[in-house]
Amino acid sequence: MKKIIITLDGPAGSGKSTTAREVAKKINYTYLDTGAMYRAITLAVLERQINPGRAADVIALLHHLQLSLNYENGVQKTFLNGRDVSEDIRTMAVTQNVSVISGVREVREFLVKQQREIGKQGGFVIDGRDAGTVIFPNAELKFFLTAKVEERAKRRQKEMAAKGVHVPLDEMIADIQSRDEFDSTRAESPLIKAADAIELDNSAMTIEEQVDFIVNVFRSRFAVSA
Ligand code: C5P
Repeated sequence: MKKIIITLDGPAGSGKSTTAREVAKKINYTYLDTGAMYRAITLAVLERQINPGRAADVIALLHHLQLSLNYENGVQKTFLNGRDVSEDIRTMAVTQNVSVISGVREVREFLVKQQREIGKQGGFVIDGRDAGTVIFPNAELKFFLTAKVEERAKRRQKEMAAKGVHVPLDEMIADIQSRDEFDSTRAESPLIKAADAIELDNSAMTIEEQVDFIVNVFRSRFAVSA
């Protein structure tokens, strides 16, 4: 059976990554976390003490960056010039600077090219902001996940707490609101719902309910006995 592309787009903290990972596991697809790639470039910018606001310097750096992804038991590992940066890309410093970096057209072109190459055979669940609009506009199955901002901030706060980092809720809400604003209004590939995406407000849904919903839609449309 031909393997398709499933895209999950939505704002920060909408549960895309956990959901995409679980859906991929259930249907034996691979999960592609495109946000990790923007984060890896942001980490490189910060480590070299380049000002994230100086697009020309960020663009010049791209030629020196080799990004690669590996999968261990379905978990994506992100490598930057051969170094595993999967943990380092999750810090608040990276999170607070990633929107500016991802607004640079050349950065997007650099990554979208790689993302299309990775997914071209199908069999991927891809999460991001532009997965169903720009990376794979012809994806067979698209979802747009949303949730109330307080709910999304609480989820992110919990994620950080699990890593031993306490971020006050109001700081988390402010970070999410500013990223939402930046990601939705930027000139390059803004976060918008694809016309053919199924919208799902998951404010009151558990991850399991959301995963089941997506898997059921997939099975009913594409893989009756999968
Ligand atoms: O999904 P995650 O929160 O890790 O994404 C981090 C940031 O990367 C987003 O806030 C957004 O600015 C950017 N991004 C993007 N396009 C994608 C994935 C992420 O612009 N496809």
